[in-house]
Amino acid sequence: MAIRKIVNKSDPVLHCKCKPVEKFDERLHILLDDMKETLAKAQGVGLAAPQVGIRRRAVIIDIGEEESEMIELVNPVILKRSGRQRDVEGCLSCPDEWGYVVRPAKCTVRAQDRNGEFFEMHLEGLACRCACHELDHLEGKLFLELVDEFVELGDEA
Ligand SMILES: [Zn+2]
Repeated sequence: MAIRKIVNKSDPVLHCKCKPVEKFDERLHILLDDMKETLAKAQGVGLAAPQVGIRRRAVIIDIGEEESEMIELVNPVILKRSGRQRDVEGCLSCPDEWGYVVRPAKCTVRAQDRNGEFFEMHLEGLACRCACHELDHLEGKLFLELVDEFVELGDEA
């Protein structure tokens, strides 16, 4: 495993739509393992492939509940969203920028695992917020465009 460089918001890779993952091979597994290590080192809650310069639809979320198992979502889509939550978000690609974003309170995500098997997950609270944020990265969208109120430096997100 290796730590990859997290690109900054000015990098064009963060502003375009990512392609689906088509090959569930060794190369994907290395990417996912590297992303996990990179996320752990950065102490974030989520990381999308474009943030390490790879234009593919893969994200890692660390929901940090009882087991700190990170979840790999390949080709994720949100099937259902409900409710509303407003809280402070940040992004590893936008250091020192924080702001309030409204997200659904709950969502159901369908994705593939590293071997291409489909599964569905129900996410709530921070995990739901995190998944929505990371999935936006796959569309080339940054949370900054959704912020309704910027806040001074904090560590909430
Ligand atoms: Zn982000």
